[in-house]
Amino acid sequence: DEDVGKIKPDYVRSFVFENKLIPSTWIVIRIDGCHFHRFSEVHEFDKPNDEQALNLMNSCAVAVLEEFEEITFAYGVSDEYSEIVSVIVSFFTSMYVVKWKEFFPQKKLKYPPYFDGRAVCYPSSDIIRDYLAWRQVDCHINNQYNTCFWMLVKSGKSKSEAQGCLKGTQAREKNELLIQKFGIDYSKLPLMFRQGSSIFRAKMEKSAASENKSSVEKVRNKVLVSHCNIIEPSFWIAHPSILN
Ligand code: ATP
Ligand code: ATP
Ligand code: MG
Ligand code: MG
Ligand code: MG
Ligand code: MG
Repeated sequence: DEDVGKIKPDYVRSFVFENKLIPSTWIVIRIDGCHFHRFSEVHEFDKPNDEQALNLMNSCAVAVLEEFEEITFAYGVSDEYSEIVSVIVSFFTSMYVVKWKEFFPQKKLKYPPYFDGRAVCYPSSDIIRDYLAWRQVDCHINNQYNTCFWMLVKSGKSKSEAQGCLKGTQAREKNELLIQKFGIDYSKLPLMFRQGSSIFRAKMEKSAASENKSSVEKVRNKVLVSHCNIIEPSFWIAHPSILN
């Protein structure tokens, strides 16, 4: 009992940082696979885009939205970002492992994947739209580069030769290379590869007349995966409830 009295809880607790989020802001939780360069090689993902691996990620994101309905809604007022991040990243990771078999029935998961997560606060709807537009532009630029890179590698160039070919090339030159050397029309590649995936709730108008709340809730909360353009204002005009 004397020993127990010597432990000073305030001292031990003083090492725990209180990571506060800014109130009344949009919180982005960004999740990123750790060492997926290796993971995608070990699991023989198609290059540059393994469709099933992307579908698996999308399915995990849908599960996150389905699981954290209230947390998503409460992001702007929450103050403990470390807990929010850890809970969502942990859920996403276990979903990834649980769903692996569904998306890769003939591939064994060879070791446990993990993800990192960060939270960033954006103070207005306009800024969060700029953030999302930036991510979608990045997706397009990376995909265009990766498509050229992997076509060159698959046609017999080494990785460093392929890198050399593409160094300093503009978007137009990359599109021309794809057409002229490989007969690939970049604009015809799958939307998921070029625009990424947006996941959101299909919000229906609340039916005030309906007494059957549970079935209405289910319809209202259906989570959708879409490969739409989120840079154009038209998407946000068509879905006003996302950034109400
Ligand atoms: P870090 O741990 O720092 O995030 P990383 O190896 O995960 O390092 P990233 O910059 O996050 O590096 O890049 C992800 C890597 O995973 C890329 O090399 C990409 O080729 C590969 N990858 C991820 N998803 C897919 C996919 N669906 N199809 C093909 N390759 C993929
Ligand atoms: P939170 O998500 O906020 O952490 P929680 O439901 O996990 O909530 P904790 O306060 O972390 O609640 O408590 C863990 C609960 O899990 C306890 O109620 C305990 O009964 C149960 N539990 C955890 N590990 C064991 C175990 N090894 N054997 C029996 N019960 C356990
Ligand atoms: Mg990454
Ligand atoms: Mg990373
Ligand atoms: Mg990564
Ligand atoms: Mg607890």
